Amino acid sequence: MMTHEEKINHIIQQLQNRHSTEPVSFRKKAVSHEVPRLNDRRYSDEKIDLSALKEILHIDKEKQICIAEPGITFDDLVKATLTYGLVPAIVPELKTITIGGAVAGCSLESMSFKYGGFHDTCLEYEVITAKGEVLVCTPDNENNLLFQMVHGTFGTLGILSKLTFRLIPAKPFVKITYRKFHDPESYLSAIWQHYVDQDVDFMDGIIHSPESWVLSLGHFTDKASYTHRYDWMRIYYQSTGRRTEDYLRTKDYFFRYDRGVTNVTPKSFLGRLFLGRFMTSARTLMLVKKFRRWIPPEMIPVTVDVFIPFSKVSLFMDWYRREMDHFPLWCVPYKMVRRYEWISGNFLDRVKDELFLDLAIYGMKKKGDKNVYRILEEKLMDTGGIKTLISGNYYTESEFWKIWNKDNYDHIKRRTDPENIFRDLYTKTCRAAMGERV
Ligand SMILES: Cc1cc2nc3c(=O)[nH]c(=O)nc-3n(C[C@H](O)[C@H](O)[C@H](O)COP(=O)(O)OP(=O)(O)OC[C@H]3O[C@@H](n4cnc5c(N)ncnc54)[C@H](O)[C@@H]3O)c2cc1C
Repeated sequence: MMTHEEKINHIIQQLQNRHSTEPVSFRKKAVSHEVPRLNDRRYSDEKIDLSALKEILHIDKEKQICIAEPGITFDDLVKATLTYGLVPAIVPELKTITIGGAVAGCSLESMSFKYGGFHDTCLEYEVITAKGEVLVCTPDNENNLLFQMVHGTFGTLGILSKLTFRLIPAKPFVKITYRKFHDPESYLSAIWQHYVDQDVDFMDGIIHSPESWVLSLGHFTDKASYTHRYDWMRIYYQSTGRRTEDYLRTKDYFFRYDRGVTNVTPKSFLGRLFLGRFMTSARTLMLVKKFRRWIPPEMIPVTVDVFIPFSKVSLFMDWYRREMDHFPLWCVPYKMVRRYEWISGNFLDRVKDELFLDLAIYGMKKKGDKNVYRILEEKLMDTGGIKTLISGNYYTESEFWKIWNKDNYDHIKRRTDPENIFRDLYTKTCRAAMGERV
């Protein structure tokens, strides 16, 4: 077993002894939750191996904080913190998402209406720069801008090597109540009321169809008269349409969507009977990545989250129904807890909302030549919304930097990666990931 310091030194050595002058990517132990792309240039990059960084270093029960390395999965993390009666304030819903990936990429779940993203619950990062310098970043020290900027930069500003983050008290079970609506207006007004009242522990929902809007409201509880699990024959999102309430063990609640959120495969009774237990989200992603050369691109369904300012959701849904008409959608209210430094000032000035609704469009079949990702990008630029960068990205460079904050990004990049060995954020997510040789 290497100590944390030995692991850091091993990473610094790799950075200093690179074989080529081409950009590098990272290798970690758990599967990546970016959607596999056929010609993603990053698959053939030289790798900096981060796979040893996957331990919990300390849990402080009194202060309710955890210090851990970036490669720990939320599954292992929740198992460990629950033994102290605590859980991370944000637990993304797939078991093998890692805390480093959640900060460098994105992360939200049904507690996001209170806490924002996982990064908003972090207190300190240790970051290794391209030259092998180790920086401690907090919201208040000399590296405060790096602390705020690391989120969503896909490892292009440095390697996260240690994270300190908040935990919250948990109970053994979660009781979920399903409120059913038939139109967007009453649904959105119920979300707003629970957001204002902060009277639930968890809030998310499934829009099954334009006429069936389910709001799922969860509370931690000490007792449960029954419990359900959704890791084999039962499919969680479907249950929200049928049931009026449910009880899950806390860990099963966090990972209730792990067999796929609204895109659960296999779907048939026999498929689920024989493969349902085995096909976790991690296995599905691993298999798609492995066999991507043989899978026709149109078979890989659309997987994207779009964050819509709450005041624009009704209008967006009218448009969405006309243009896309794909249901079910998973929806997660998300509080923008601060004026994020990584979003351009001009873009933020247009958006007055502090609450966003994340709509997860998962499992939509691609139709003909229609580029759904591009159509969504254009609509979002118009609406003041933002999408995740984990799948198809078609922004032009000038469009991209109208949304992401180039001044802040370049300022930090000059400090942490002046020779650009990690690529810049636009090049990594919108060009290399899409198959361009850069
Ligand atoms: C089907 C599907 C459903 C999803 N659903 C949700 C959801 O409901 N909620 C949610 O929040 N997210 C969801 N995601 C997105 C997921 O949370 C993000 O893609 C997240 O970034 C994945 O983390 P990971 O650990 O798999 O990181 P990876 O995919 O391995 O990495 C993501 C990026 O971060 C970089 N990175 C990883 N580790 C480090 C590090 N230590 N230092 C610096 N950079 C690093 C990588 O280089 C990469 O560019 C979903 C993704 C998919 C494919």
